[in-house]
Amino acid sequence: MLGHFINSTPWNGVVLSAIGNGNGANGNGAAAADVENVVIVGSGPAGYTAAIYAARANLKPVVFEGLQNGRGGQLMTTTEVENFPGFPEGVTGPDLMDRMRKQAERWGAELYTEDVESIDLSSRPFKITSGERSMLAHSVIIATGATAKRLHLPSEEAFWSKGISACAICDGASPLFKEREVAVVGGGDSAAEEAVYLTKYASRVHLLVRGPAMRASKAMQDRALAHPKVTVHFNTGIVDAFGGNVLEGLHLVDNATGEKRDLKVNGLFYGIGHQPNSKLVAGQIDLDEAGYVKVSHGAATSVEGVYSAGDLHDTEWRQAITAAGSGCMAALSAERYLTANGLGREYKQQEQPAAHEQAAAAPKATDSVDTADSFDSSKDKHKGQYALRKLYHESSRPITVLYTSPTCGPCRTLKPIFNSVVDSYSGKIYYVEIDIEADPEIAEAAGVNGTPTVQVFSNKERIANLPGVKQKSQYRQIIDQALQEQMAKVPA
Ligand SMILES: Cc1cc2nc3c(=O)[nH]c(=O)nc-3n(C[C@H](O)[C@H](O)[C@H](O)COP(=O)(O)OP(=O)(O)OC[C@H]3O[C@@H](n4cnc5c(N)ncnc54)[C@H](O)[C@@H]3O)c2cc1C
Repeated sequence: MLGHFINSTPWNGVVLSAIGNGNGANGNGAAAADVENVVIVGSGPAGYTAAIYAARANLKPVVFEGLQNGRGGQLMTTTEVENFPGFPEGVTGPDLMDRMRKQAERWGAELYTEDVESIDLSSRPFKITSGERSMLAHSVIIATGATAKRLHLPSEEAFWSKGISACAICDGASPLFKEREVAVVGGGDSAAEEAVYLTKYASRVHLLVRGPAMRASKAMQDRALAHPKVTVHFNTGIVDAFGGNVLEGLHLVDNATGEKRDLKVNGLFYGIGHQPNSKLVAGQIDLDEAGYVKVSHGAATSVEGVYSAGDLHDTEWRQAITAAGSGCMAALSAERYLTANGLGREYKQQEQPAAHEQAAAAPKATDSVDTADSFDSSKDKHKGQYALRKLYHESSRPITVLYTSPTCGPCRTLKPIFNSVVDSYSGKIYYVEIDIEADPEIAEAAGVNGTPTVQVFSNKERIANLPGVKQKSQYRQIIDQALQEQMAKVPA
């Protein structure tokens, strides 16, 4: 019996048959049951599409979705996606990625919201290791995409999350930028889109373009240039940032004349492109000078059985649909490879409810915002500032607060992770979700500069402030500490 398979739906643990000629030509003798058919690393359009195809081919793929690098990939940091086929009215990036994830899940992909720490391709089966587990696989699809580039200004670290951000969609709603002047650096589509998006919150957005013209598509350029709240500065470079506790301005240089000047802004958003996330396989498969994976025949890398999908190898198109297309190619290639070498195993799927039935049955973390009438202290989970104020003043339990904003993709990643942590402390702690757009004054008072952020309060004191998405163990450690402090205060 395949022990670790039997509890995961929709697979019933029955191996239908070995795929192909069954002689395991490339195997090295590891017990077949301990070796996955295919492990997919990455959960952007490429990774989830590969997962859907591999799962529908009964390969029972395992997907490492990423955590620090963001489950759902780059589209979790954008608003409207208007060019993905099948959505005539458009769809938000996070909604599109949620749908892809659900589709992969429905067909039985085994999903782990974890970062892969190493991939060993030096012997077969290949070994994939995350912070929580290690596994062997006959084939690997690497779909780790790309990450936002940074400028590496001398003071970047000092003002990171205190004014400098790589995600306008995640952090734009912060009180730090409300009715203040902010800057976006970059001349491409991302920068232009971010500049226009930030006009929702900022009083003025300065778009800093290092050359004499923008690289963005004509449509995006027109939107930015025509916007009354956007000022475009051409030939402009950033020398450094300055400020006190938070960012207060930028030292700029005119790239044409060398003239220096300062610009007073409270925010700096990076829109300067992305670099491929190929570190995991550098030195093991062929990469080009810029770090992109070299592929042949659609998705094949220089190591047989290892495939690349999406922006990781795409130096030219870098679109959601092209990433999804190459995820499909990678999964079909992996299936052919397993079959040709008699390596894979085909699994039988159980009957399963339709996706919309599954969605309806999914537990809701928190429902509506608490009011004086609806607040019920016997419940562990709450929403909104009324509940937070009430619990802060009256409760003796530690309070965990998750600050989110409606367009923040990483918030969607963190919510289920954090909810499952809170569930394991039933009756011992409270959880309050604060939407910083709905409750900006609470976010300001709490010093929250971006979302998601988790804060933990114990005995009316804030004992932790954790911006971004962290491992479950980090949240548990702080909550355990809060509970211990609480116990220590109880009179003997
Ligand atoms: C602001 C913005 C707006 C965009 N708008 C559009 C648009 O409107 N239409 C369009 O077609 N395209 C758009 N794009 C481009 C599109 O998002 C990308 O082309 C697409 O997301 C690439 O998909 P991918 O799967 O290759 O990689 P990504 O989306 O980059 O996903 C990579 C995945 O790999 C994971 N990962 C990385 N390292 C690890 C690790 N060590 N372990 C586990 N997982 C890991 C990450 O967590 C992530 O899930 C936009 C991009 C940006 C930045």
